[in-house]
Amino acid sequence: MTSDSAPNGAASEMDQARFLEDALINLSHELRTPLAAIKGYATSLMRHDSRLTGDERHAMLSEINRACDRLDEVIEQTTLTARVLQGQVTLQRQETDLVALTRQALLALDEAGATNYLLTLSGDAALLILADPRLLTHALLHLLDNARTYSPAGGEIHIAMRATSGSVGPMAEWSVTDHGIGIAPEHLPQIFTPFYRVENHLARSTNGLGLGLAFAQRVIALHGGELRVASEPGEGSRFWFALPLAGE
Ligand code: ADP
Repeated sequence: MTSDSAPNGAASEMDQARFLEDALINLSHELRTPLAAIKGYATSLMRHDSRLTGDERHAMLSEINRACDRLDEVIEQTTLTARVLQGQVTLQRQETDLVALTRQALLALDEAGATNYLLTLSGDAALLILADPRLLTHALLHLLDNARTYSPAGGEIHIAMRATSGSVGPMAEWSVTDHGIGIAPEHLPQIFTPFYRVENHLARSTNGLGLGLAFAQRVIALHGGELRVASEPGEGSRFWFALPLAGE
């Protein structure tokens, strides 16, 4: 992987008006898609109630339930990211095992049908850090989910964790490496900008607000780390960070 970049905010030459327009269109699309599903199924249930079998009714109610969950997720992600970006959250820090947190995030993703994650631990069964488990789990989920979203189906995703010695003391290092579509060098500095999505067929066909990396970058910074990326189009991407080990 050749393109190594630290995040540096919005590109200076980006057309801000167009960007804002795209962001709003994307956000309304993310809200409208589940809303349309809810409206469609609810209308069918009302119109055809007497003709529907129990199984059909149950299937429609399940779809409504799924669409409600998606709406909830979009609203929760948007409001939580806004609060994090505006500095309105205070970390609820506690001694937290980064390995256990990662395993929990993987379990949550597995429930959504992911099966191709590979976890490597270099000797350390636990890596204790002082962290806000809720916010850090959200950040890890975004990074892991992106690795899956932007990889071919079944593509291998490698998560590695180890203790290292940084310039400021012992650190817990975390990384996720995928072999997916990668990111072109000109996009790398912008992917951490809220609502930024690289324009490609996946961005159009996958759910996404372009908020995950902005959120993850800020949360990791609040914990005293820096989220970094190395990527090469067609080869894959690696996102990584290091956080101080607790009690060191
Ligand atoms: P979202 O995934 O919701 O679009 P993110 O903020 O998580 O938003 O990511 C911003 C953009 O960065 C994505 O739209 C995608 O173009 C790109 N990206 C993020 N992670 C990866 C990855 N692992 N591989 C390729 N592209 C990625």
